[in-house]
Amino acid sequence: MINNPLPPGSTIGIFGGGQLGRMLAIAAARLGLKSHIFSPQHGSPAFEVASHQTVAPYANLEAVKEFASAVDVVTVEFENIPLDTYEHAAKFAPIAPPPTALAISQDRLAEKKFLTSHNIPVAPYLEINKETDIVSAIYKLGPDGILKTRLLGYDGKGQIRLGANIDPDAAIKAYSGEPSIFEKLVPFKLEISCIAVRDYQGNIVFYDCPRNEHRNQMLAESHVPAGVSEDLEKLAQAYTAKIAEKLNYVGVIAVEFFALAGATETPLIVNEMAPRVHNSGHWTMDACHFDQFENHIRAIAGWPLGSTKRHSNGMMVNLVGHDMDRWEEVASSEGAILHLYGKTETRAGRKMGHVNYLYEKE
Ligand code: AMP
Repeated sequence: MINNPLPPGSTIGIFGGGQLGRMLAIAAARLGLKSHIFSPQHGSPAFEVASHQTVAPYANLEAVKEFASAVDVVTVEFENIPLDTYEHAAKFAPIAPPPTALAISQDRLAEKKFLTSHNIPVAPYLEINKETDIVSAIYKLGPDGILKTRLLGYDGKGQIRLGANIDPDAAIKAYSGEPSIFEKLVPFKLEISCIAVRDYQGNIVFYDCPRNEHRNQMLAESHVPAGVSEDLEKLAQAYTAKIAEKLNYVGVIAVEFFALAGATETPLIVNEMAPRVHNSGHWTMDACHFDQFENHIRAIAGWPLGSTKRHSNGMMVNLVGHDMDRWEEVASSEGAILHLYGKTETRAGRKMGHVNYLYEKE
């Protein structure tokens, strides 16, 4: 907990050195705050824009102690930071978001249980611990579903899509043996997300919900406005507020939803939540005066939150893998606002940057 706003010159400690850490550090620098990045990887994209770096495994608790003792608040850019590491940091510096938020979003089963315990709808699912569980899950929920590992799953990682024409034997063969869930395929009309920011006093504000399009189970585009009813956006915000309140959350939180077609008792189902800034909020960098990165820094540093108002309509397009080769063409295209993450190696499926396009608000 931070009672007084951290003055300019203070240092934000960030676990994780990817593009989200990089954009957080840039936002902090704009406010006269320094960043110290802790990442196990040499050459992490966030290092280039931060005043201090620690390269050490997350399990190195001596390094964690040194890092947390040198900063004024600790946060994460990635939910899969080992819980022991994050809790150890908390002995030497204030931390935000709370560790429970990480614990829940690290484990798909814990996340589903947390959400259902608060009457927030999720896709029907069953726990998978052994091969025969797959057969009984298919029997109970039908074959149209996705086998998802409980841990370390994001951007479609650790997922096997099943279906009527997939032989359960093939599914069993593909099953890693890791604790997993089998989740029924949701016939959604579209996907939206809610990005909210909550401060230490419990004030919460929301960005407009973007509509998200995925390719290969990875976010490809976000559009604002989403083109959904005001009621649906309000419902997404109400669910997000409930999640944030129950977690006593501080910082930016993102919740991804499936919106179902037609009149239904459950128009929205939560897909997953992320206790951090989120790819589907990157349009805020150009379509809002205060983007998600600045608002995360403001929240955790105990500063007043910035307005989440959007001055333009917008579209965000991810540059994934060799999309990056088009950088020069994008850079010369009028109205394309290019953000590159400084990654030296282009790999298939790797997020290399994104482009924001703005349109006049009617
Ligand atoms: P995830 O990694 O769980 O966020 O999944 C990535 C994407 O896969 C989602 O954004 C959806 O497009 C799709 N997906 C995941 N779970 C389901 C589901 N139960 N029903 C339909 N589509 C899904």
